[in-house]
Amino acid sequence: MSGSWASDPRTRTAMRGNRSRDTAPELAVRRLAHAAGLRYLVDARPEAAINRRADLVFRGPRIAVFIDGCFWHGCSEHHRAPQRNSDYWSNKVARNIARDRDTTARLTEAGWTVLRYWEHQSPDYIVTDIRSAVLSVRGRRLGETGIQEIAEDEQREPEEHESKPEQQE
Ligand SMILES: [Zn+2]
Repeated sequence: MSGSWASDPRTRTAMRGNRSRDTAPELAVRRLAHAAGLRYLVDARPEAAINRRADLVFRGPRIAVFIDGCFWHGCSEHHRAPQRNSDYWSNKVARNIARDRDTTARLTEAGWTVLRYWEHQSPDYIVTDIRSAVLSVRGRRLGETGIQEIAEDEQREPEEHESKPEQQE
């Protein structure tokens, strides 16, 4: 089977753009999330017993984040099946979608909050959404336990990098 479908340059581009880790949208989200004071694991298994990896994992609040590529995960706005071997691709994407649903179901059952985004969504929107989910879990816990804790305990003060130049008279 190899050779035929991969010979279409657009297919190759789509494969390269979607299969690799650390895609541009993922990196943008990670950078913004980090800047917002969020701390998380990258490309990690949320649950040891479940053989699935999430793009960002927040172990404390048990939030698993997936940033799905429009091509591989069948975004209704952007997924276009390549003309060559379209059956092959539509089957593959259908399997991915089924697997995504299964992953969400399994993690949810294990007590995880699963957040899924498309790579076409703005990183700003995604990070704002993730952040409010993290804070909401913390808020709920505070309500349950009554522990006095600052909700944004991971938020760090920005470091002062500017040094004042000595004024010479
Ligand atoms: Zn899309």
